[in-house]
Amino acid sequence: MARARTIHGTSVSPGLALGPVHVVRAAPDAVPNWSIPEEELAAEVERLRRAIAVAGDELLRRQRLVAEQSGERDAQIFAVHRMILQDPGAVEEVEEALRAERVNAETAVHQLILRLERTLRPLEGNSVRSYSADLSDPWREVLQALMNVAQPGLPVDGKVILAAAVLTPQVVTSVERERLLAIVAEAGGRFSHAAVLARAFGVPCVVGLPGLLPRLEQGMQLAVDGGRGTVELRPGEEQIVDFVERRTRLEERRASLAERAAEPARTSDGGAFGVSVNIESLRDFDIFDVSHSDGIGLCRTEFLYMERPQFPSEDEQFRMYRRVLERMAPKPVTLRTLDIGGDKQLSYFQTPREENPALGWRGLRVSLEWQDLLRVQLRAALRAGVGRDLRILLPMVSSLEEVDATRRIFDGVRASLLEQGWEVEADVPVGIMVEVPSVLFCIEALMAKVDFVSVGTNDLVQYILAVDRDNPWVSKLYEPHHPAVIRALAQVARAARAAGKPCSVCGDMADDPATAVLLLGLGYDSVSVAPYFLPEIKFAIRRTTLAAAQELAAEVLAETSVEAVKQALATMRERLHF
Ligand code: PEP
Ligand code: MG
Repeated sequence: MARARTIHGTSVSPGLALGPVHVVRAAPDAVPNWSIPEEELAAEVERLRRAIAVAGDELLRRQRLVAEQSGERDAQIFAVHRMILQDPGAVEEVEEALRAERVNAETAVHQLILRLERTLRPLEGNSVRSYSADLSDPWREVLQALMNVAQPGLPVDGKVILAAAVLTPQVVTSVERERLLAIVAEAGGRFSHAAVLARAFGVPCVVGLPGLLPRLEQGMQLAVDGGRGTVELRPGEEQIVDFVERRTRLEERRASLAERAAEPARTSDGGAFGVSVNIESLRDFDIFDVSHSDGIGLCRTEFLYMERPQFPSEDEQFRMYRRVLERMAPKPVTLRTLDIGGDKQLSYFQTPREENPALGWRGLRVSLEWQDLLRVQLRAALRAGVGRDLRILLPMVSSLEEVDATRRIFDGVRASLLEQGWEVEADVPVGIMVEVPSVLFCIEALMAKVDFVSVGTNDLVQYILAVDRDNPWVSKLYEPHHPAVIRALAQVARAARAAGKPCSVCGDMADDPATAVLLLGLGYDSVSVAPYFLPEIKFAIRRTTLAAAQELAAEVLAETSVEAVKQALATMRERLHF
């Protein structure tokens, strides 16, 4: 019997895509090391040269991107990196090592990197350390290119559906956004950071497809239904016709939703609800209409840092933040301070290897230890916020003391800016992300110390349920509609209302229309979602009443099983015509 050609998985991001697949074989963590026989040395040198060229192109691409986003001056570093790769001395050195030791190109390049870093390390001092990174960074790019070059090549042009064993941020960003049709992966968390990126890009994405890769060939046609969570291998003519028809209907529906997307989300009985967007890059402005959004509810600044080869300077950050604020003006922009750790790493900032990164050194914990990083970021943000509606959001807060400490730094930064003659807004609200359960138990006391709260359900769910959001082995246990999570959400909204402070949800569970109605009913003022979902959420809120939302909240709060919560939401979804 022929094997079924439709494979069912888990929806991560909706939408329909049809096109050729490119299987990504994730680069191994360790640098691979093997010997090269004499007769293959010339081919290995050729592979090295090709990788140097690929790395040069990648650096040029980034140089243009940064030039476009924050100016030529900031982009200069990439020009320097490209020059380093054009230095015949270094290239010869690597080629000679490769030939003399008969090692693969990865090993030869890695040895050079270690040598560069070793030579400069004893000199210490910040400027020298960053100089050493400048010399070795371009070669790290070559190493990356080599690991990719070793894979079956990506077609030089045209759009592709990426397929991978595990959905990771590297997979999502392994081709330019413009070329990305969809992503499918054998494993991955629905709320992992990689999933957040896929939704931010607005591309269909399906995970939970064990055994997919052995059934694929490079370039094979796939039809991906991100909403249903299915992948069709080599769809036939009839299926393609059906698929294209469905896609046309979806596009028509989205176009009609977009027509009213600029209107406020207000229920028919007058309940107002804010709907803002989450952004990770200045390029996100290309995929949504600013007139549709009530603001930026979450700007994940760490992704702006990740797009750069080194820590962005105060002026560089000022220019990035100013651009975001200008694009949204007069609407509010919530800048979240650097939230690195776990799978969000900066290539130029070594963090310790941790056994348990989700419980480790991340978010505000890093900022409070490396306070200069936080000071520079706050200086840049406050300078950029002049005349604009800026709000500052702190990630991964777990205690009142952390809020006090950050407030002291914030006040110090403000005072020193004023002392130096900079203009600063008198009142910049500072809020916290509710992501760690300890915050729930101290929520009333915390409310007195902050100006607003935003619930990061992606993390809150993982910590309440003790399920790593990035670990594919436990992704089935990751359940945002668990009654414990719903009760936690209700508790936060109650405390915020009692304190008269705004409260919002910026985690990805808010991108489901019925869940957004539930949040309104629980007492939230707003949600912030990936841009793709904004028109649907506004549409859903307009189709309901505050009374119906509150009824749903009461019903769901009385439930004790995930199934019952989901059933109540499914009924609401039907009433909303989704
Ligand atoms: C969250 O945890 O819900 C959140 C919005 O932050 P991130 O997804 O960036 O961790
Ligand atoms: Mg988070």
